[in-house]
This record gives sequence, structure tokens and C-alpha cells, in this order.
Amino acid sequence: MVAKRPRRNAPKREYRELDLNLVRTSLPKVEFKRGNEFQVQQTSGTNAEAGKSWLCPVCRIEIEPGLTHTVAWDLHRGVETRRHFHNHCWKLFDGMLT
Ligand SMILES: [Zn+2]
Repeated sequence: MVAKRPRRNAPKREYRELDLNLVRTSLPKVEFKRGNEFQVQQTSGTNAEAGKSWLCPVCRIEIEPGLTHTVAWDLHRGVETRRHFHNHCWKLFDGMLT
């Protein structure tokens, strides 16, 4: 029986990137909402093009540029379904993208 060796040499690149101001997003993860699978990512919004803003589909209030928020899309329907949510709104989101 071969013991599994811990991967102590795993690259720490991701952690280092998080320390940089240049980094705009956290690591993506997958969340389930009502059986729908969503790719979820946080963004600081600092990469917003001038004048660009997003309407949160939950509260229908605009997300201010520079505000850290959540970007999510339906994994099966594709990245075209991407929406920008306030972080707290994403938690409330019931999984029905319109
Ligand atoms: Zn909202």
C-alpha cells in the first residue's frame, strides 16, 4: 500500500495573486441554486469600462463601478447568461435567470 504524499509543492501562485491590487477576480467556484449549476466569481469591478455599470437582477439596483460584487452564469446555458449581482443579492438569488 502506497501512502499518498501530501502535495506540499503545490504552486502558491493563486494566493500570491490575491495580494496584488491588479488582481480583479477571486477563484471561480460552482454553486447550485435550485438544481441549476452556476459558475460564480467575485470581481472588484475595477475593470469596468468607463461608464459601464450593471443592473443586479435580484434587487434591480445598479451595481456601482468599483464595488466588489458577484458574477455568475448558468454553466449549462453558457457564459452568455452571465449576470452581475450584489454579493448579498447572490445569496438571496433563487436560481432563475431571466
Ligand atoms: Zn442587488
